[in-house]
Amino acid sequence: MNAHRSAPAQTAIVWFRRDLRLTDNPALRHALEHAEKIVPLYVYAPDEERPWEPGAASRWWLHHSLSALDAGLRKIGSRLIVQKGPSATTLRRCIRDTGATLVCWNRLYEPAALKRDAELASALDDDGVSVEQSNAALWFEPGTILNGQQLPYRVFTPFWRTVEKQLPTLPAPSKAPRKLPPVPRGLSRIEIDDLALLPKIRWDDGLTRSWLPGEAGALKQLKQFSEHVASYPAGRDRPDRIETSRLSPHLHFGEIGPRQIVAALRHSAGAAAHTKGADSYLRQIGWREFAHHLLFHFPDTTDAPLDKRFAKQKWRRSAADLRAWQHGATGIPLVDAGLRELWRTGWMHNRVRMIAASVLTKNLQIHWLQGARWFWDTLVDADLANNTLGWQWVAGCGADAAPYYRIFNPVLQAKRFDPVRGYIRRWVPELARLPDRWIHQPWAAPAAVLQQAGVELDKTYPRPVLDLGESRKRALQVYSQLR
Ligand SMILES: Cc1cc2nc3c(=O)[nH]c(=O)nc-3n(C[C@H](O)[C@H](O)[C@H](O)COP(=O)(O)OP(=O)(O)OC[C@H]3O[C@@H](n4cnc5c(N)ncnc54)[C@H](O)[C@@H]3O)c2cc1C
Repeated sequence: MNAHRSAPAQTAIVWFRRDLRLTDNPALRHALEHAEKIVPLYVYAPDEERPWEPGAASRWWLHHSLSALDAGLRKIGSRLIVQKGPSATTLRRCIRDTGATLVCWNRLYEPAALKRDAELASALDDDGVSVEQSNAALWFEPGTILNGQQLPYRVFTPFWRTVEKQLPTLPAPSKAPRKLPPVPRGLSRIEIDDLALLPKIRWDDGLTRSWLPGEAGALKQLKQFSEHVASYPAGRDRPDRIETSRLSPHLHFGEIGPRQIVAALRHSAGAAAHTKGADSYLRQIGWREFAHHLLFHFPDTTDAPLDKRFAKQKWRRSAADLRAWQHGATGIPLVDAGLRELWRTGWMHNRVRMIAASVLTKNLQIHWLQGARWFWDTLVDADLANNTLGWQWVAGCGADAAPYYRIFNPVLQAKRFDPVRGYIRRWVPELARLPDRWIHQPWAAPAAVLQQAGVELDKTYPRPVLDLGESRKRALQVYSQLR
């Protein structure tokens, strides 16, 4: 924390960004400890995040998350003041209108936000306004977890060993305030609806049925998940079941923080299977931590490979293949199921994300950024650090990346991780009547089997846009030349 001045303040602005919660919110806590009046402010300024301003699914989530935060604040006597950016002008206007002498916020770690916040903190300091910046999003500040040579880790396992050892030193999460002072009257503000975050053509039905954005939804989800965390290690790779926590959008928007997750899981630790499940789950959150630390140290990786050998890679351009992949029409059932799950619910199971990304970048040889961009627009958990790490890992050009020769075979993966093909049947219903033996590779099924199941290739379901074997060989050639 870095308060620039310590004089007691009368009014503090709490600038909410992606920390849309009341529990364990250090910026809010600091304001409460140092000011009598508190102004909870949200400034919508997507231009300041360019070229990674929130996509359509993220905007949908944000609308509901802001509404939930406002409702939570009203319950304890306050409310959310919503404004449109630019952030600097809006904050300064709010400071002028309220006479605030302290502004508190929780840090963001994306390159554009880091730059903006540094400039803003220095400008406010020049104006004589105190700024308090805290960490609500990560276990540890990026820059504090370094290897023996004081350099950032580029491989996950040693990073995790260091982080795991330090988890017990984390402070206990703070409780949500029971009461807040009322917001001063007459402040200029707009309605959340005025931000026009919801789609004009209402495609969001599936999202509404799948999610409960907001802090209460996050806490409920964590409680449910922690009760069956023991089955996480065995179940986390099964897309046909709900075995993972589905907390990713809640974590991205800061409706829950990673310290709360440690506290909840360690607190409820009991049987050995529970402890094993909790450890395996925390390791996965460790990947999130790793992704954020990496992005902090290597900010250009949002658009360029971390491993510079891959900068010269030649990619294929095919608008038709890209469109088929985006819309779940590649003719490869597991991949299509994943892309359709994404389109309908704003989320895709991690195992299927890896397979779908591998088919795009390796078999189809289409640039990983094209996939990252599509995910960015369609995922409710679209997160610059995690998405960059995920895509570069699969494409083989990132930190700790999958070796170039690991090219997922979607047919074998379906057999292994969707053993009764429940996932494919759910998302590709036109294949549902095919027997287990053929449903993950309908192109290989005998004509009579297809006919009996009502499948007509290229009419009811496409033939594959590629030959898995041939495209694998081509990808291996490309990668061996790059090395
Ligand atoms: C190509 C690709 C793109 C991805 N894009 C994103 C993204 O934009 N946003 C995002 O949050 N995750 C992304 N992931 C990581 C992962 O798929 C999701 O975090 C996970 O599926 C979310 O579901 P969950 O909350 O049920 O996960 P759980 O298995 O319950 O994991 C708990 C939490 O740990 C974190 N986590 C888990 N796995 C990873 C991982 N591999 N990398 C980083 N963090 C992880 C997430 O915050 C997640 O919520 C991507 C993975 C791939 C392969």
